[in-house]
Amino acid sequence: MNSTSEKQRLKSSKRQLATVIDLNKCMGCQSCTVACKNIWTQRPGTEHMRWANVGTYPGRGYPRDWQSKGGGYDKQGRALQGQLINIVDAGDNLQFNHDEVLNHEDGQNARLEPRSADGQTAKWGYNWDEDQASGKWPNAFFFYLPRKCNHCSNAPCIDACSRNAISKRDDGVVLIDQDRCTGHRHCVEACPYKMIYFNPATKRSEKCIECFPRIDKGIAPACNRQCVGRTRAYGYLDDKDSQVYKLVRQWKVALPLHPEYGTEPNVYYVPPMSTYAYDSDGRLTDDMRIPLEVLEQYFGPAVHQALATLVAQRQQRKDGNPSQLMDILISKVWQDRFSEFTNEPV
Ligand code: SF4
Ligand code: SF4
Repeated sequence: MNSTSEKQRLKSSKRQLATVIDLNKCMGCQSCTVACKNIWTQRPGTEHMRWANVGTYPGRGYPRDWQSKGGGYDKQGRALQGQLINIVDAGDNLQFNHDEVLNHEDGQNARLEPRSADGQTAKWGYNWDEDQASGKWPNAFFFYLPRKCNHCSNAPCIDACSRNAISKRDDGVVLIDQDRCTGHRHCVEACPYKMIYFNPATKRSEKCIECFPRIDKGIAPACNRQCVGRTRAYGYLDDKDSQVYKLVRQWKVALPLHPEYGTEPNVYYVPPMSTYAYDSDGRLTDDMRIPLEVLEQYFGPAVHQALATLVAQRQQRKDGNPSQLMDILISKVWQDRFSEFTNEPV
């Protein structure tokens, strides 16, 4: 088999699992991040990794400045050069002076102070710019953006791996074979979402495994299942009964992040509707607080129609009429969100 057809084989899957996240309901509580970190990133060398993370946007995000580090494909499908992320970009594994503050008599006079892994005063870390708004008062705005590996249908990490260590399972989950990986990090450069991390202890690249030991037993991934805001739906994109299908394919209100990267990502977002903006006299206008051009930068031109549909359906419901879309998004029964992945974790 030549290398092109071998890559096609590694990139193909029979079906595709997908996650939908409603950004109108995400409150930035980080329960998804903690759920992931508790289960998967507790081994030596994984201290800096947040396979699942939630950032404040517009912002530099996590890993730091990931949107300007290249990778992905251009419009002709050619691979674009990407950059590596370093340990500071990935959160710096900050150390705190807990002993000084908690265990010493003069602890009352000391304050918790983050230090870089190299002992210097920290200048950057995970969620350093949390809740930092854009825009000008009284029209300041931000939204929370939860992220994880997108298990892309056209995954550049698979193309880039010189060891053919990355592949898709039949359900569309992208995994790195730790026995084949030799830590070249071409995948880290190639992923435009910067969702692969190098483990300096094992000298292998690692990333979100979509909780595959759970989904093999019909249990939703921990980040999706533990979301206290009921923002998330999970299931197969071709399952017409799933909320994923209804939100992505039928109502078309759930959109991929940065579709221009050309990777066909499989985490979809219901964009934030935002509140209304004030004019210079302090009167409410019909303009949205989050400028449409900002949302277009994240979700592409389809965000206009998606927001129009959301606003129209919300109004329909306010007028006392039924709306299937609003019922799905309100999510009174959590099991409805996860199709066949509703088993209890044991
Ligand atoms: S998000 Fe990045 S790591 Fe995940 S499948 Fe896509 S390219 Fe690969
Ligand atoms: S658990 Fe849900 S509400 Fe909380 S930050 Fe994650 S996606 Fe948002």
